[in-house]
Amino acid sequence: MQSDNDWPQPLDGTITPRFAGPITFMRLPQLIQANSLDIALLGVPFDGGTTNRPGARHGPREMRSMSSMLRRVHPVTRTEPYALCRVADVGDTASNPMDLMESLALIQARVAELRSQGAWTLAGGGDHLISLPILRGIAEASPGLAPLGMVHFDAHSDTNDSYFGGSRYTHGTPFRRAIEEGLLDPKRIVQIGIRGSLFDLTDMDWARDQGVRVITMEECVALGTDGVVAEARRVAGTGPTYLTFDVDCLDPAFAPGTGTPEIGGFLPREAQAMVRGLMGLNFIGADVVEVSPPFDNSGGTALVGATMMFEILCLLAVNRARVRPL
Ligand code: MN
Ligand code: MN
Repeated sequence: MQSDNDWPQPLDGTITPRFAGPITFMRLPQLIQANSLDIALLGVPFDGGTTNRPGARHGPREMRSMSSMLRRVHPVTRTEPYALCRVADVGDTASNPMDLMESLALIQARVAELRSQGAWTLAGGGDHLISLPILRGIAEASPGLAPLGMVHFDAHSDTNDSYFGGSRYTHGTPFRRAIEEGLLDPKRIVQIGIRGSLFDLTDMDWARDQGVRVITMEECVALGTDGVVAEARRVAGTGPTYLTFDVDCLDPAFAPGTGTPEIGGFLPREAQAMVRGLMGLNFIGADVVEVSPPFDNSGGTALVGATMMFEILCLLAVNRARVRPL
């Protein structure tokens, strides 16, 4: 169904070649005001939380470019996100690459502004620290919504306390801060694909003590994708839920362009199957993070990131159409 209203639509690749035209998420129009939008695709070009290999600040631009590969209709769920919802690219958040705390405030302010205009955000990062100011912005604009549940795809729990002698805001700490601040309900968080060597034997203790459901990669293999989906749906329940997708949950054979690669990861089609299996959960915002183009020699990681943004957009659009108005 092609929309017969004046809602924003992607450029049609059978009319305007996909190598032509402006570089926006999903080839959608770029709008700065979100008053008439249901879902805002938002770039967050910030990697000041990176503790090791940088470059995710370049992620939004490359994901926009590779998102020209995406068409309008989901092939499996048959979802038509641009018929269900008004979706556009709202550009990038401001940031100050010289000032981490100011950048967090700028990201939060933009998300709160968009949300107060009525738009849910699907963000393309950026390192994983961006999820913290996004969650703060949602809570600021929608009092009473937090604490949220969260479905978290990642090789890492990102619940460490601090780095380098007391730095509490890094891409390894966002969800510890978010739980401490009451933005997330730890008992409604599920972490999927956790693996990799640890700093210490106690690394995972804090998250588990809070009640976070940590599904290691070994358990994911044992459960299979259907079993992981069932467990994620059980933990997240019916309440408002955030979805965050760190591309390092994938095997670095498929997503090498990322800050903290860990071998033994998911195939892209396994990640697609799990995300599709989450259809119907009450998702009210999402992000795809940690695409680092300087380490992405093939451009393939940006393609994976853009494609996962489309997969997640379909979940958000179905839920937004269900609960409209906000
Ligand atoms: Mn992460
Ligand atoms: Mn990670």
